[in-house]
Amino acid sequence: MNWISEWALPKIQTWLGRKEVPDNLWHKCPACEQMIFHRDLERSLHVCTHCGHHMRIPAMKRAEYTLDPGFQRIELPKSPADPLRFRDQRKYADRLKEAQARSAMDDAVVVAHGAIEGRRAVIAAFEFGFMGGSMSPGVGEAIVTAAKLAVLQDAPLIVFTASGGARMQEGALSLMQMPRTVIAAQMVKEAGLPFIVVLCDPTTGGVTASFAMLGDIQIAEPGAMIGFAGARVIEQTVREKLPEGFQRAEYLLEHGILDMVVKRGAMRETLARLISLLREPLLEPAALSAGPDAPAGPEATPAAAPGAAAGTAPAAAAGSVPGAAAPGAAPGAAPGAAPGTAAGAAKPSASAAPPKPASAA
Ligand SMILES: [Zn+2]
Repeated sequence: MNWISEWALPKIQTWLGRKEVPDNLWHKCPACEQMIFHRDLERSLHVCTHCGHHMRIPAMKRAEYTLDPGFQRIELPKSPADPLRFRDQRKYADRLKEAQARSAMDDAVVVAHGAIEGRRAVIAAFEFGFMGGSMSPGVGEAIVTAAKLAVLQDAPLIVFTASGGARMQEGALSLMQMPRTVIAAQMVKEAGLPFIVVLCDPTTGGVTASFAMLGDIQIAEPGAMIGFAGARVIEQTVREKLPEGFQRAEYLLEHGILDMVVKRGAMRETLARLISLLREPLLEPAALSAGPDAPAGPEATPAAAPGAAAGTAPAAAAGSVPGAAAPGAAPGAAPGAAPGTAAGAAKPSASAAPPKPASAA
């Protein structure tokens, strides 16, 4: 049969001038159920063009969307497969093999290093499609490896989480990854490097209960489900109706769990800005003393904020870092204004606190 499919069929297709057509040209948005053409979906970074729903994406796509071209994915250390010889309806070893074949990954995390808008970074991204992004010893190993790599390269570590929690098929060994990943995060912090967590839909269980809540800066994608136990379990336990939007990114932002909610389209530049704010040296005071009366540029007007703030949160970390405007400040931005203001003015698309008048300084 092989010669038919491998030799004869392509020949016939060439004679007929027919090209391979991908199976799924149209995708259905799980939120609004509208159809989206695959090219439009790719262009919008898998965000629904009708309702703005952020779809779940593979780990490699995260790396592509975040890092500059030419990034490198690193080989992860192997960990023993199926140490408990676990079996439910099927053997865990079989489930694992199937997930590996489908995703072309050894376990549920991709680690890559490269640059974000020219600034060095190491990223680790969870693959929810790989057994629900569950945390196995292999995943723990990946996070530890990413942390070590960040320290070695003197680069910030950014983790994109999407996980159902610990992998029950590896029992206590999976639970042990909670302290392990916490230590990995601590390692990055002790080296004086930023540890940034981007919580993607969904982040729950043991991942939420360990390193995922320890970021120096906690970001989430719009609408992401973030929690420990599921809403239904909580509702049954407390016997109360949970508020609207419970465990969603926006709700958590309002209640102080997150620093910002950032749209996928703005994630790259937000991360680049954060890295520059946290890592690049501040300007000398002389460079900032152009005088408090300098007119504020158009970017500094509050009108610049709403459009930009739609996908991002007002509680921006940018506003809390003094001298934030230093590297990329637009000349129009009032240098005498509060640092938070200047940060917002430098890049209007950034989320920032509403600018204060220049005279406030
Ligand atoms: Zn939609």
